[in-house]
Amino acid sequence: MNKPQSITVLGATGSIGKSTLDVLARHPERYRVYALTAYQQDELLFEQCVRFKPSFAVMLDEQAGLRLSGRVRAAGLKTEVLVGVEALEQVAAATEVDAVMAAIVGAAGLRPTLAAARAGKRILLANKETLVMAGRLFMDVVRQSGSPLLPIDSEHNAIFQALPERYTGDMGANGVSKILLTASGGPFRNTSLADLQQVTPEQACAHPNWSMGRKISVDSATMMNKGLEVIEAHWLFNAPADAIQVVVHPQSVIHSMVQYVDGSVLAQLGNPDMRTPIAYGLAYPERIDAGVAPLDLFKIARLDFVAPDFERFPCLELAYRALRAGGTAPALMNAANEVAVEAFLERRISFLDIPRLIAHVLDELPTVVVNVLEDVLSADVQARAAAQAWIARS
Ligand code: NDP
Ligand code: MG
Repeated sequence: MNKPQSITVLGATGSIGKSTLDVLARHPERYRVYALTAYQQDELLFEQCVRFKPSFAVMLDEQAGLRLSGRVRAAGLKTEVLVGVEALEQVAAATEVDAVMAAIVGAAGLRPTLAAARAGKRILLANKETLVMAGRLFMDVVRQSGSPLLPIDSEHNAIFQALPERYTGDMGANGVSKILLTASGGPFRNTSLADLQQVTPEQACAHPNWSMGRKISVDSATMMNKGLEVIEAHWLFNAPADAIQVVVHPQSVIHSMVQYVDGSVLAQLGNPDMRTPIAYGLAYPERIDAGVAPLDLFKIARLDFVAPDFERFPCLELAYRALRAGGTAPALMNAANEVAVEAFLERRISFLDIPRLIAHVLDELPTVVVNVLEDVLSADVQARAAAQAWIARS
């Protein structure tokens, strides 16, 4: 029996983090938890520490870190509590770590995920914003360090499974003609443009098929999530924008497909449960139980496919535009989107203001070439400022 793999879970208290711990708990002989991290939910992180006994627990928020530290001491746990961004990078890159689940939400996930890549760790990538913001830099680091990169986003995990095992990143040479990226269409798939003006954060967060964090839930409702995923697919599989086609598939049973030049289309199917791609990423190339119910095709009975509506969901178009513009454009778009989603959740802007705000930021700010990480971080700061100014004016 091999010694257990040592795992760091970045964003342990989130939707993906909790699903990851659920899978890890099913296989204590294969995995041990090295570190768990969160932003401010110290109570939940404490409960996870009691259960998984990590060597380290990291809180981004200092006050929450102090509270966690007190609880951990009082409970007599051996877990060492650290605070701040450097500590996130430290537990992502530590020598003892074999694999890192990158499940922090948003731009905050970039630095620790990059740290894991520089250290050559196996990366289970849920944080799609890393690739949207800094796709070229991140993929270069992954190639240089030899980090095995496993996509956790269900669509990209499906594509990874449907591509040839030794896919070289050259679609033509591998006989791949298209990536068919499926989308549920979100909670407003059939909502008219007039009604979209009125929708609330509660309605936007009530996804028909998936239970997720609030940010990605709003992204699914605007279809910006699919836009981010188009950019994610571009970097992961070296696919040009024209070769990535979004297919709305309301049942979310086919998680995506790969079309080949001989007419074959390979799909990966399953119940919409993130534990499947998480277990795949953890055990690859083996397969382990994920606790997911077997797919009942008779119960599903039918699978539907429709073309996306770019008019009601302009975020999708904006993402293609940013991808084609290249350079810092996707980072600008990502930052504007994060500000817009937060403002929408706080009821400061309307649902349809989200694409308006992003388009404004893309129009206003210049796109520059990305040479170093600083280029990306500075685009992120500028876009946030421009977005906040737009909100203040509106
Ligand atoms: P959640 O909002 O549920 O969880 C986010 C996690 O990140 C929490 O642990 C949170 O801590 C932590 N966090 C938040 N902000 C910061 C910060 N500034 N610094 C450090 N840590 C922070 O998100 P999800 O689990 O839904 O999503 C995580 C990532 O996975 C996203 O990038 C998303 O796009 C991607 N993803 C998610 C899917 C899903 O089904 N949920 C599917 C595919 C991809 P705290 O709890 O303390 O706030
Ligand atoms: Mg997805």
